Amino acid sequence: MNKNNTEAINTENTKLASDRIIELRNNNEQYFIMNGRRKTFHILTYGCQMNEHDSEKIGGMLTSIGYEETDDEKNADLVIFNTCLIRENAELKVFGKLGEVKGLKRNKPDMMVAVCGCMMQKEEIRQKLLKKFSFVDIIFGTNTIQELPRLIYNVEVNKKKSVDIIDNTELIYENMPKTRKFKYKALVNITYGCNNFCTYCVVPYVRGREKSRLPGEIINEIKMLAEDGCKEITLLGQNVNSYGNNLDNKTTFAELLYELNKIDGIERIRFMTSHPKDLTDDLIKAIKECDKVCNHVHLPVQAGSNEILKRMNRRYTKEHYLNLVEKLKKEIPDVAITTDIIVGFPGETEEDFQETIDIIKKVQYDSAFTFLYSVREGTKAAEMEDQIPDEIKHDRFDRLLDVLYPIVLERNSRCIGREYPVLVESVSRTSENYLTGRTEHFRLVHFKGSEELIGKTVNVKITNVKTFHMEGEIVEQ
Ligand code: SF4
Repeated sequence: MNKNNTEAINTENTKLASDRIIELRNNNEQYFIMNGRRKTFHILTYGCQMNEHDSEKIGGMLTSIGYEETDDEKNADLVIFNTCLIRENAELKVFGKLGEVKGLKRNKPDMMVAVCGCMMQKEEIRQKLLKKFSFVDIIFGTNTIQELPRLIYNVEVNKKKSVDIIDNTELIYENMPKTRKFKYKALVNITYGCNNFCTYCVVPYVRGREKSRLPGEIINEIKMLAEDGCKEITLLGQNVNSYGNNLDNKTTFAELLYELNKIDGIERIRFMTSHPKDLTDDLIKAIKECDKVCNHVHLPVQAGSNEILKRMNRRYTKEHYLNLVEKLKKEIPDVAITTDIIVGFPGETEEDFQETIDIIKKVQYDSAFTFLYSVREGTKAAEMEDQIPDEIKHDRFDRLLDVLYPIVLERNSRCIGREYPVLVESVSRTSENYLTGRTEHFRLVHFKGSEELIGKTVNVKITNVKTFHMEGEIVEQ
């Protein structure tokens, strides 16, 4: 599909969606006049930042048709489960919670229940859900979020259960309203879907093939965010490094970063996630040269053994990965490198595991998300015969943390006595007098300060460090 056709279809679809929004908004205004209150919604979000951002779009759409958000599902007229398949026991968790909501719905028959997200892209889970929880009114998938107003309309007006799932689509719906959790930081999708088919991952099956948003759409969205007071953006994609591959003009991710770096008002640009096979020299140069792009690269290694990387279909070797790390450290001396690691992938021998330990020691990660491999139905890895027994996985996991945590702590301890600009995010959960924020390297910092500093950037001198956070004090400027 060429760019002009894609733009025309996107515009047409956006118009259709906004017609439904207007109709439902009018209905809900009537409801407000008659009942003296607005209808309420509550979203339960499971999983990754992609899902969090989808929930912001769902919330934005519901707000635009006259709903109001509530913190408590017991008070909600519409409860939405935005599900994830990545986490272990995901199905169990969602089904357990649906059981609770069933009780609520019994006492409140008008309450609508919707289930969406990655889990709903799987036919067998959908069928199981419909059979077990027949009270669910609406089911939609990762490619049909924009259809929510129509689905609600169908339930409210036609009294029909609504299901809308598309397996794959080239279309991207722009300009959807969004509710934002934070005024000063925002998530911005740049790509959707994934083409990589890592053998342990369900994403290409549930979110479809990779498609990139047009650079102009991304720039406009971020300019609007900046005008609204947003200072930090995180660009989202399953593999941001391959941004632009499906665009006619083939804008690269590096070129996009240079453009975004020019936007007034934005102070920090982050991105998630970088696939090591697509991290180019141009991109490293862009990170180095763009002053607003944070010197933090999240570069998932997953495993240190070439044999396991091959079985994972990661399409890079340990040597290639270490070479990238060397380049990053040479070009950007204060870069922070974080990663994802899976322990106990099918076929992993003790020697393979030692290769992972070796890469941790060589890279000296600033932080890492570590996972025990668990089977995801429908993936190639789920069918591999040599699954690793649980006790061996757990033993390796513990040994991996024994190596990783001292490295992370040592990396953090290098910050003691130094000053860092910190974007203040919130009041600390542990004490009201303390604030929390992050350095550009994504290190979490707790320090004394008052609430009015939230959303501002302050200089903090680091006084103490732990494995997962640092402590400091504000330095007067
Ligand atoms: S790059 Fe691999 S792990 Fe990441 S979303 Fe795509 S298939 Fe999944």
